Amino acid sequence: MKFDRATFLADVERVLHADYACELKSAGRRELYNAVSKAVMEEAYDDWSKEKKSRRRRCGYFSAEFLMGRAIYSNLLNLGILEEVGDALASVGEDLNQFEEVEDAALGNGGLGRLAACYLESAASKDIALDGYGIRYRYGLFRQTFENGFQHEEGDDWLKWGDPWSVRVERDAVLVRFADQTVRAVPYDMPIFGYKNGVVNTLRLWQSEPVQAFDFASFNEMRGEVKANENFNATKITDVLYPNDNTMVGKILRLRQQYFMVSASLQDIVKKYKAAGRDLRTLPEKWCFQLNDTHPVIAIPELMRLLQGEGLTFEEAFDVCHRCFNFTNHTIMAEALEKWDALALSDLLPDVYEQIVACQQRLQGEGLDPNAFYIIRDNVVHMANLAIYVSSHVNGVAEIHTNILKTQTFKNWYERYPEKFVNITNGITPRRWMLLNNPQMARLIDSKIGTLWHTRLPELKKIRPFIDEMLPEFVRIKQENKKKLAAYIAEHEGVQLSPDFIFDVQVKRLHEYKRQMLNALSVLWYYFGIKDGEITDFPPTAFIFGAKAAPGYYMAKAIIKFINEIARLVNSDPAVSDRMKVVFVQNYNVSYAEKIVCAADISEQISLAGMEASGTSNMKFMLCGTVTLGTLDGANVEICEEAGRENNYIFGATVEEVAAIKQYYCPREILEQNPRLKRALETLVDGTLSDDSGMLRKLYESMTTGYEPDRYLVLYDFADYVRVKTQLLHDFGSDEFNKKCLVNMASVGKFSADRSVTDYAKLIWKL
Ligand SMILES: *Cc1c(COP(=O)(O)O)cnc(C)c1O
Repeated sequence: MKFDRATFLADVERVLHADYACELKSAGRRELYNAVSKAVMEEAYDDWSKEKKSRRRRCGYFSAEFLMGRAIYSNLLNLGILEEVGDALASVGEDLNQFEEVEDAALGNGGLGRLAACYLESAASKDIALDGYGIRYRYGLFRQTFENGFQHEEGDDWLKWGDPWSVRVERDAVLVRFADQTVRAVPYDMPIFGYKNGVVNTLRLWQSEPVQAFDFASFNEMRGEVKANENFNATKITDVLYPNDNTMVGKILRLRQQYFMVSASLQDIVKKYKAAGRDLRTLPEKWCFQLNDTHPVIAIPELMRLLQGEGLTFEEAFDVCHRCFNFTNHTIMAEALEKWDALALSDLLPDVYEQIVACQQRLQGEGLDPNAFYIIRDNVVHMANLAIYVSSHVNGVAEIHTNILKTQTFKNWYERYPEKFVNITNGITPRRWMLLNNPQMARLIDSKIGTLWHTRLPELKKIRPFIDEMLPEFVRIKQENKKKLAAYIAEHEGVQLSPDFIFDVQVKRLHEYKRQMLNALSVLWYYFGIKDGEITDFPPTAFIFGAKAAPGYYMAKAIIKFINEIARLVNSDPAVSDRMKVVFVQNYNVSYAEKIVCAADISEQISLAGMEASGTSNMKFMLCGTVTLGTLDGANVEICEEAGRENNYIFGATVEEVAAIKQYYCPREILEQNPRLKRALETLVDGTLSDDSGMLRKLYESMTTGYEPDRYLVLYDFADYVRVKTQLLHDFGSDEFNKKCLVNMASVGKFSADRSVTDYAKLIWKL
């Protein structure tokens, strides 16, 4: 975008006059933020309207979550005016950095929602016609604080800053009908700016509102369906994001959210397609849809219903849906695969349920084994099966994950429909995760190989011949990033970290399968080793954790309490203060991630093999030149393929080994063989750590007793983990080690979301 300082400042001034009756000189931070954002929106209008009017074939990315992070800096970067706006504001005595106070738009939980955000950015940057469709939650993911080491949750009031990057599109409002209520869905459109290419795609987020006296024509059309107080709770549907990651919550409100979002999106698309005078049987010529996990799968029977309402037969509607829909699976964990009670679903959405029954009957008509192929069974609707049966493509999100889908989770389906299954390994956008959060490193690379890598990440391999000469600058920049992070942590967490310590980082959602427990126990194991004089040469290390636990996930909250108690024990012990520090940062989110990933020395990716479908934080760290300490799980496997296993630190049971180990696994035997590990685990119950909630005891019990003690083989993998981790800590700082970091950076090309969306466009969307 071409930028003229005088015009820009005049635009800002005008918005301030019109919206806030104030001037630049007297504007507060929020007013200035809104005015700057709106001034940019105004400038971007032409490009956006061009794309909105474009008649090319599009893909709708249907997702219950979009974890966008803070918009302002990323938008300015992509428009190519980040520095210019900074300078313009500086010329009137304002600092662009003041907007770091602006809340992230956290309309997602973790990896799945962040992936959707990276894909929208990459698609726009690659000029792929991809639009997001989701929910405008009034409250996003909760804000996390710790009180006495326990997680506390507060509502995320992200709209208190205003929402200058969205426009309300009243004319596209539609009605969404449930058996017991009808609500109005109003879209808010957010521009998605491609990186310096003038492309602007759209993220359309729907908000639920009461029907009331909105449009008498549509209102009258409802012919008395409206019950007296049915609009009372209309806004409730989009009130709040469910804070669960990788688990299904069987709440009817959640089903209402899912149907609300897909029904509104599809009605909008069908309405416009008809208005353009086209036959709905040709819908796949102009549209396809990607279902981001099972959350939006109810879109399939909804489109069938809408199409039959427009005169298509069931078979015609089925065919259109088959050609339009594609399904991404994000997890093999049974607790995340959505299943709905058939009665509850048919009570809420009788006409949609009828379509699911029709799909089930069609499936039964194919003469397959009904025990292997079903959509409804024992009065339960299996959403993943519905998605696989109807969609043209089903994809996993890393090679190892797709292989598990084919050979285990959906084995029957794969054998019947092998052509549907494809792998698309996840990726991240290098704009937010390098150019924006690590600008000095980006400049260093630019100085060696130019800037082509900004949009073609595999070009980074060209730094290989320069690795030796880049080492000192690489180390200096990483050190500076660590200094900045340490200052931020001191201010926000009250813990002082020395940037001369190794920064060992594990940041991601709190989950038993991600095994923050394994890391925590190793910290205690090193601590006791140092205290007892058995470890005398421990390299000074800061153990940094960040994670939110779902509010109803008891064990995850217990692990947070455990780590916070370890931090208290270690940080208050002067005997180890020159060797180790532990900090659990509060409210880990996208903005925190941006600060952390560029300052890490170790990327902990230590899930039990087979459990992490892909992971994307592993890629963010790799891009910033950080070695992975990890298992052969998810995309870690491909990271090793690209960068060399010898340049990373791999440990633990493999997927093939896990099943066999579980047959005879006895955690007690392992504890008897490793007294220091036993001591570390027993701090949960022996009074070393304070907890009057009983949580730590429950955590201890989950590791040692019950039907399946230590389900995620933390204790089994412990010895190998500390062996490799200790090796890493001792390797740290040498030239050889620093080269490993840069080889990882040079090898990250495959993990660009630009490659992922290009693969989707070629293999699935045919855009
Ligand atoms: C990238 C990211 C994630 C995903 O992390 P994984 O380690 O891949 O699970 C979660 N939350 C935030 C804020 C992120 O930026």
